[in-house]
Amino acid sequence: MREVDILVIGAGPGGMSAAQYAARAGYSTLVLDPMGPGGQLLYIDEIENYPGLGKTSGYVLSEAMENQCKEFGVEIEYDEATKIEKKENRFLVTSSYSEIEAKAVILATGASHRHIGAKGEEEYSGKGVSYCATCDGPFFRGQKVVVVGGGDTALTDAIYLSKLCKDVVVIHRREAFRAQKALQEKIKDIPNISTVMGRNVVEIKGNGTKVESVILDDGKEIETNGVFVFVGTVPNSKIVEGLVETDNGFVLTDEKMNTTLSGLYAVGDVRNTSFRQVVTATGDGAKAAHSADEYIQENNL
Ligand code: NAP
Repeated sequence: MREVDILVIGAGPGGMSAAQYAARAGYSTLVLDPMGPGGQLLYIDEIENYPGLGKTSGYVLSEAMENQCKEFGVEIEYDEATKIEKKENRFLVTSSYSEIEAKAVILATGASHRHIGAKGEEEYSGKGVSYCATCDGPFFRGQKVVVVGGGDTALTDAIYLSKLCKDVVVIHRREAFRAQKALQEKIKDIPNISTVMGRNVVEIKGNGTKVESVILDDGKEIETNGVFVFVGTVPNSKIVEGLVETDNGFVLTDEKMNTTLSGLYAVGDVRNTSFRQVVTATGDGAKAAHSADEYIQENNL
């Protein structure tokens, strides 16, 4: 059994921020993530609203956060936490490779890409259906793609794809976008982005090896080489099911990142919050580490 003061589950921006604050406050801090450091940062081609950095890439920001963590002595391991139990004043966490005892646990497991549930979506996943523009956009250079969704991710990534692809058609289920006004204005000025509003994609068709078209709920068929699905996320909160209160799977916290189980905190996209940004996740991480510090001291752990 390994012992640490603070165990952080998830190495996205929220988890790395929490870990850095915890280690800097003098606590032995371990971060587990089966995918290693970065989380959703690794899907961001360009980020321009993280304070103080101007334009940078998610990868560069992730590497900087990882280095800062390591400078303060944080250990980051490629490992998946599978079970959390609380016994008296200690958390017992089982992972794929070990068992860890911790005084406090910070859950930073983020969220995964939601699927639209259209016929053919699973069949053509990786054969033209993608959930990541920066990963797969370059495969569609000079071709036509469809983007499904109406939030910030859909429009940000449509703009990214418009620089690579011949045509980008954004299909959104409502008549109005949810995305920030600035992005809505920006896409109007990009000649190779067009929009189809008030329509759902009900089927993705192809020749068995690659996508050829999408069918809309009015029966219309749009030819395309690729389908990028950006319809939000679902929280990765299975590990705390039955342990803390959630709302649609999102972990409920107060403003100090306390969950309903003392000593367990949740930060970033896995928690119930209305605004999900890199900067809000890192802010959550700092608050959770501070709350864990108070909890450990107040309980003489
Ligand atoms: P989101 O804001 O939840 O938007 C999801 C979009 O997908 C909505 O337009 C929604 O439609 C649509 N949708 C949901 N389920 C669908 C379905 N089954 N079929 C068709 N469409 C569906 O998700 P997001 O765009 O990924 O953004 C997540 C968070 O990250 C947000 O807080 C966002 O602000 C943030 N973000 C910020 C930036 C930035 O600041 N540059 C960039 C990317 C993301 P409705 O509108 O009808 O609900």
